[in-house]
Amino acid sequence: MHKAVGMAAHERMKHLTKMSRETLDLLVIGGGITGAGIALDAASRGLSVGLVEKADFASGTSSRSTKLIHGGLRYLKQGDVQLVREVGRERAIVHRNAPHIVIPEKMLLPVVERGTYGRAATSVGLWVYDLLAGVAPEERRTMLSRDEALLAEPLLRQDTLKAAGLYIEYRTDDARLTMEVVKTAADYGAICCNYAEVTKFVYTASATGRKLVGAIVQDRIAGRDYEVRARVVVNATGPWVDLLRESDQSRQGKRLHLTKGVHIVVPHARLPIRQSVYFDVPDGRMVFAIPRDGTTYIGTTDTDYHGDVDWPRATRADVEYLLAAANSMFPSAHLTLADVESSWAGLRPLIHEEGRSASELSRKDEIFVSPSGLVSIAGGKLTGYRKMAERVVNLVLRRLQAEDGRPFVPCRTADIRLSGGDVVDNSWFGEMVSTWFELSSQATAEVVRSLAKYGGNASKIIEMAEKISPEELRYFAAKAGAGPGDEAAAELSADFPSRWLLAELQYAVEFEMATNVADFLVRRTGRLFFRRREAAAAYRALNDWLAAQFGWDDERKQAELVAFERQLEACVSFPEAD
Ligand code: FAD
Repeated sequence: MHKAVGMAAHERMKHLTKMSRETLDLLVIGGGITGAGIALDAASRGLSVGLVEKADFASGTSSRSTKLIHGGLRYLKQGDVQLVREVGRERAIVHRNAPHIVIPEKMLLPVVERGTYGRAATSVGLWVYDLLAGVAPEERRTMLSRDEALLAEPLLRQDTLKAAGLYIEYRTDDARLTMEVVKTAADYGAICCNYAEVTKFVYTASATGRKLVGAIVQDRIAGRDYEVRARVVVNATGPWVDLLRESDQSRQGKRLHLTKGVHIVVPHARLPIRQSVYFDVPDGRMVFAIPRDGTTYIGTTDTDYHGDVDWPRATRADVEYLLAAANSMFPSAHLTLADVESSWAGLRPLIHEEGRSASELSRKDEIFVSPSGLVSIAGGKLTGYRKMAERVVNLVLRRLQAEDGRPFVPCRTADIRLSGGDVVDNSWFGEMVSTWFELSSQATAEVVRSLAKYGGNASKIIEMAEKISPEELRYFAAKAGAGPGDEAAAELSADFPSRWLLAELQYAVEFEMATNVADFLVRRTGRLFFRRREAAAAYRALNDWLAAQFGWDDERKQAELVAFERQLEACVSFPEAD
């Protein structure tokens, strides 16, 4: 096994230099869940691996999903028994290996007049689904009568309600899941670097034509180019897969079909559902409403997308569609545009199928190998990332085996706990909470809830919180507008003590390669989506702290502020068109 590689932000350049000094077995392009999964699988099978991501880890689709580790109910409707089975098995594995971020939650499926599923179909469908997906007996579905359904969820529309199915889905934090996979890959020796973009491929001439031997990687922070050589190069760039295939001159045959999915976030008090609900909307589609961190998020849309791949936005029509969908199932809510506190839009990198509409396209993944040797993987789901990685790395290893005779090592990731997942079982949370309270008297319930997402790594944040000096706190209090003498009372955000915010930020910089406020407030902590007010109150002071850490000049500091403000604004302002 290779030596563990650090994930501190200040080590980025060292990592790029290291990558450029050796010939890697595998260069993975793309730091979403797909690329991260491949890097972990390959490194844990003993390959030397580099992973480069052009922006932040998970900044593409992998921070913009519905954030569920699905059992694949929709595949059952499409009759894809094999996929339901695989996805169900995968869900159990991901939950076992990352219990801190893959958490079982009740999901209510109302049966309504003229809905997608009738009462019998829901009952049988969920039963078959439990069987195929190998769902544990205590998590199997229950059917509720109309009255029981209303008791479980009083906000449901009553006039069309006939019954409901209650089953278990798994909620996750997609960006954190990706981050934990990246960190685990680094623990196995993968050299991972964000803000490192492949701008060009490098080839040599061979008897059979051009052979891909590496790529030019540009450090998007320092602006320097590195030539990284690798025996195999994998293109795991999600919605950008075809752009890289074009640059390899191999975009022939199947191509990507991008569809956009939007989610909106409203205060939980405005849609106080008691559990997640997966419900029919009048146009025949189905939408989720999911409570989380004092909010309820609603999604998703599914429309063809031809806009800027780097900057998908929720349009006004998307938001109005979701508000209308929620109001039709929860008529007493009367949600309006003014209730929307945040939103996100993501692109599904699906495989094009002639004549099929956005929501009919298969979510299956496919691997393409180009004449130059570039391996591209597209399609798929967050849920199936481990299995996708296994298929890609099997192919990579067979190629390496043919080239230099090395042995084929089988996949091991089913038994690898992800970083932070070293908690014994589901009762870990209660135990950890009491340990944290013992360790630190200053941790509020909000803080404990926020720390839970780090699993076993929360102890590092607690250590950091305890070391934060009174000067640092005074500095943050002053930023919060405190006058001399009343610093102790001033917090950057009324909801979250600065000490803990700063400790989380330090952890993100030291252990998760966060390089700017957006990395921290969007991907490492999800605050932009679920605690936007807190993000808005704190980002300037956090930016100042980062500027001091990284030695930014005023121009850089300002540029970072502007970049974050653009995101802060984008999640509550909705253009007319993509
Ligand atoms: P991405 O996450 O987009 O990663 C690709 C990365 O490549 C990007 O970070 C990008 O910056 C990088 N990149 C691009 N070009 C370069 C370059 N030249 N050099 C270096 N890096 C580059 N799945 C589920 O299982 N459950 C769900 O609930 C769910 N909900 C979804 C809801 C929506 C609205 C959408 C859109 C998808 C959903 N999915 C869900 C699917 C899932 O989110 C995606 O399949 C998955 O995140 C794709 O990951 P990826 O790594 O392939 O792509």
